[in-house]
Amino acid sequence: PPPRPPLSSTRSFGRRSTGSGGGEGILRGLGGARALLRALGRAGRGMAGAGGDQGHPAVVFVLGGPGSGKGTQCARLVESLGFCHLSAGDLLRAHMKSGSPDGQMVADMIKQGQIVPSEVTVNLLKGAMAADGGARFLIDGFPRNVENREAFETVMGFDCSGVLFFDCPEAVMERRLLARNEGRTDDNIETIKRRFKVFVEQSMPVVQHYQQCGKVIWADSDRSPEEIFADIAPQVEKLVPAA
Ligand code: UDP
Ligand code: MG
Repeated sequence: PPPRPPLSSTRSFGRRSTGSGGGEGILRGLGGARALLRALGRAGRGMAGAGGDQGHPAVVFVLGGPGSGKGTQCARLVESLGFCHLSAGDLLRAHMKSGSPDGQMVADMIKQGQIVPSEVTVNLLKGAMAADGGARFLIDGFPRNVENREAFETVMGFDCSGVLFFDCPEAVMERRLLARNEGRTDDNIETIKRRFKVFVEQSMPVVQHYQQCGKVIWADSDRSPEEIFADIAPQVEKLVPAA
């Protein structure tokens, strides 16, 4: 595995305001109206104006092998730090059940543990981000390969602020996946082995890319959820502070 980054690796990000300007308070609690106003305000200029002083929302990609605890920790970060959590896998599973023409292709790829074409996933993410209208997003389980990463940057016009990476031994992930019972078509031993292979061969290069940029918060995932959360929460808040 790649070496852990030095403890100071996230310091270079500095503090930045992610405030979204006036009107926020009035519209808070009116989720639909707020999202609609934001979407209207953005018409013709992409995501500009949706986030803080960079002119776009702040995004943290959450990566780690299947069963490494991405979803569990994202739920806690949403609750304590007020992020919006988007799971690429959940969006794809909803899409596959939506009756869309490419739904069957997505269902087949998930069942095989393969990576769905970037075009589909990035469009789902873009739509979900616009619908939420928030300024700080955790994007969980994406980008899955280098092409996913490049497509996101091209379509959205910006890169992530940083990556939260959960480092977990395969034996631990395998035990967790076989123990969970969410009715998923891919939580069987055959697909699990393929997902591990795809993760090592295709997703780890994305983590390595961001590590070279000094953008990775590295977490040892073979600990209790409480310990992991106590470790990562201050680092994530420092990376993308609330407005
Ligand atoms: N998937 C994909 N692109 C993504 C995210 C997910 O193709 O950006 C597919 C892929 O087949 C993956 C499955 O959805 O194996 C489940 O992904 P999820 O992140 O929900 O689960 P994990 O494997 O991390 O437990
Ligand atoms: Mg998940």
